[in-house]
Amino acid sequence: MTLTFNPDTVTLPSGHHIGGKFVSLPGEEIAVLRPSDQVAISPITDGGANAVDMAVEAAKKGLSESGWAKIKPRERARILFRFAEAVEANAEYLGRVEALGSSRLISGTITGDAVRTAGVIRYYAEFCDKVEGLVTATEDNVLSYVRKEPYGIVAGIVPWNFPIITATWKLAPALAAGNAVIMKTSELTPHSLMALADIAAKAGVPAGLFNVINGLGHTTGAEIVKHPDVGMISFTGSTKTGAAIMTLAAQSGIKPTVLELGGKSPQLVLADAGDLDAVSVRVANAFIGNAGQVCTAGSRIIVEDKIADEFTEKLIERTKAIKAGPTWDETTTFPSIISTGQLARIDGMVRESISQGATVITGGSVMESRNEGPFYNPTLLTDVDENNIGYTDEFFGPIASISRFSDFEEGLSMCAHPVYGLSASVHTSDMAKALKAADGIEAGMVWVNQHGRDPEFTYQAGGYKGSGIGQDMGRAGIDAFLREKAVWVNYR
Ligand code: NAD
Repeated sequence: MTLTFNPDTVTLPSGHHIGGKFVSLPGEEIAVLRPSDQVAISPITDGGANAVDMAVEAAKKGLSESGWAKIKPRERARILFRFAEAVEANAEYLGRVEALGSSRLISGTITGDAVRTAGVIRYYAEFCDKVEGLVTATEDNVLSYVRKEPYGIVAGIVPWNFPIITATWKLAPALAAGNAVIMKTSELTPHSLMALADIAAKAGVPAGLFNVINGLGHTTGAEIVKHPDVGMISFTGSTKTGAAIMTLAAQSGIKPTVLELGGKSPQLVLADAGDLDAVSVRVANAFIGNAGQVCTAGSRIIVEDKIADEFTEKLIERTKAIKAGPTWDETTTFPSIISTGQLARIDGMVRESISQGATVITGGSVMESRNEGPFYNPTLLTDVDENNIGYTDEFFGPIASISRFSDFEEGLSMCAHPVYGLSASVHTSDMAKALKAADGIEAGMVWVNQHGRDPEFTYQAGGYKGSGIGQDMGRAGIDAFLREKAVWVNYR
């Protein structure tokens, strides 16, 4: 089967998805462009307070009519399993909507993003009847226990780089825990999450439990955070927005926040890493995959002196082996940047980095050969010192810096970053060094001989320091959507 498709033939949802159906509401119109060729597609409106109020009312009604938090956990699981099956049955449609509206490639959105979305829903459906409390030690004739309870209505606010996957990491555990959820996706990529909500409604997820409202961050996003009936917020996005959301959540009811934020992740490559061809492929993929628009992108490559020249040559070769093109062409391996605004920001940062002393090894410019969309050449920089913007700030594009070290301890210390601590990888055949690096690196996720998450659902994701608070995925991912109550019963 060919995966390549014509994006003009795909029907896109519009409006918002509230109370189990598409709803159009008045509001400022926001144009949405296909990233790959900048063609305008179905626009959205900025939902604002009106849409948030409507979603909250739908969520309350949904919770009370379905008894979602009170029914047998196995019954909740049964409904979520049906939702997962429906996602798989609609994987082709969902994968196409995701590909045409974002930077995700059609070669991966059907069998990857859509099928993995179903997998995440299933993974959390299995948790429904495995939420357990605690009975604590007491004297006789006293029962003291801790029960875990859902918040009621929770919110998920997500970015544009993996629209349905990132959203499902939140909505699936939120629902499994017995909550209703209000999701806001990025204004740049609104369609696939609405399509997912529609699939959920048709599969029998009770109306009002999974709502998607569209709009801008500082208007609709902020209104969700501020709403008094929204009990907690799980956010993925930039560190700057995370700080704004945390402030707003504190000011509007001391609401708990899970924050999955930006990164500046190191890839530590030791001379004994093994076959340099294979290592260079995975190290390069870690900063050019999805055109570098990945929170965990391995944007700081730290290589042992002995292999640095040869390894750099191999990385350059790798950056030339891409095939840039539209996301709906199955032969494309390298997508566009999400918007012209992001392209200008990335190029501006590269120019500034150069003016502050960085040297371009390869790339360093907009891809002029593809002027139908915002494409950027995979770029390697060197001479990026600790005051350089290329070190201090996240590019969120296909750009990495290379630096060298001569001894292991020096390399390890170079992995630290003053602001970020999202992820890191170490590439070596010496397991003692690998484990020392895993112990020593200050980051929420560390990989040995790979960079980036496996599709495994058990591996939790979260950052240290400016990269965030709390976890998505794994058991911690459902605990985030539960609060604890201590009960003391005196029956003396
Ligand atoms: P962003 O912070 O600009 O926006 C993320 C979401 O927040 C969007 O839906 C946006 O509309 C909303 N938003 C913006 N301002 C808001 C406000 N004041 N109140 C409420 N909501 C608001 O991020 P982005 O540009 O969409 O995504 C890129 C960033 O996301 C990068 O920094 C990247 O590292 C990060 N990211 C992190 C992870 C992770 O798991 N740690 C995963 C993916 C992306």
